[in-house]
Amino acid sequence: MRITDVRATTVTVPLQAPLRHSNGAHWGRFVRTLVEVETDNGLVGLGEMGGGGESAEAAVRALRDYLVGHDPARTEALRFMLANPTASLYNNRTQLLAAIEFACLDLQGQHLGVPVHDLLGGRVRDRVEFASYLFFRYPSADGDGEVRTAEQLVEHASRLRRAHGFRVHKVKGGVFSPDYELECYRALAEAFPGDRFRYDPNGALSVEEAVRFARGIEDLPNDFIEDPTFGLNGLRRVREKTSLAIATNTVVVNFEQLAANVRDPAVDVILLDTTFWGGIRPCVKAAGVCETFQLSVAVHSSGELGVQLASMLHMGAVVPNLSFAADAHYHHLVDDVIDGGKLTYVDGAIEVPSGPGLGVRLDGDKVAEYAELYRELGGYPYDRDPGRPGWYPLLPNADFADPTVPGSTWNEARL
Ligand SMILES: [Mg+2]
Repeated sequence: MRITDVRATTVTVPLQAPLRHSNGAHWGRFVRTLVEVETDNGLVGLGEMGGGGESAEAAVRALRDYLVGHDPARTEALRFMLANPTASLYNNRTQLLAAIEFACLDLQGQHLGVPVHDLLGGRVRDRVEFASYLFFRYPSADGDGEVRTAEQLVEHASRLRRAHGFRVHKVKGGVFSPDYELECYRALAEAFPGDRFRYDPNGALSVEEAVRFARGIEDLPNDFIEDPTFGLNGLRRVREKTSLAIATNTVVVNFEQLAANVRDPAVDVILLDTTFWGGIRPCVKAAGVCETFQLSVAVHSSGELGVQLASMLHMGAVVPNLSFAADAHYHHLVDDVIDGGKLTYVDGAIEVPSGPGLGVRLDGDKVAEYAELYRELGGYPYDRDPGRPGWYPLLPNADFADPTVPGSTWNEARL
């Protein structure tokens, strides 16, 4: 089997409502680039990466010369062909490598008639549990879906709990002041006794504020506190002053950083992202290192459609030391580009695909529809808040949004 072509299509898929975070917002939709790798035996492998447009499509096209003629079974060679560590000082291709790696694993699985998890040591679980991943949200174009107050957050979580069966709830914070978000978090824990909780302000807090927040929730059933402040040294200082487990998806995202964290621990739970780490296989390797040093792991979400979600499910299926529920933005999407529509949650978990390869295929009509929507709307700046024009945060941030100001809709969100 040899690669004969590679192509990319940028799509944008609407969200139920714009998602707010410490740097800005997802403006009512996700922009993702779908990658298709073709082979001489007529198979098509699927990949996906964040962002998109001309530059993403061109970056994938530029790999054509590297990939044509390559055997997709040689995934380890890909790492050095596309992202040799010293060459990567000049060309940061980790995200591209990840998308191509998903596609090559998909091709191997299809070729052999086995699911990707069988290529990775075989599954140790059939379903992967997910957290509810709760965001403060602006209202959607029709005025629904706002999450700003503690009452709205509890109501939102309650609906998701009923619809999908979540028993673990993650609050994406760093939007409002830590005191306000602490109240919201405590209200949530009070509303759902027996469930578990986690808080992630994307590193926005100072060490001292992070310690104060952590101490303010120590009596609750927390999984962990995620990136309460930015940086390994900051997290180490927080860890020394709280009984909570510390998690990160920001400062342990490669093997160099993982080694640093093993030698001088700052983080207890490593959140593995199949894109940030350059593919599913590096995540499985990292999980092995974590198992050796008895660090915990979980699955990180950087925003996904069905192809990326499949990569997370196959990774989650084979990692024995998956200690916590996975994260996904997926339930905020109104649709997907895969055949059969969105994968479904049952009792808070999604079944690991069992078909050959990644086990998901593209729905051509949906891809065309959302590629057209992308051409119509273009991208959006993830690090700008449409409700706070001109604002950008310092790190640590001290200028949080005002929770007494109701969110309004704006043209960009009118999909
Ligand atoms: Mg995070």
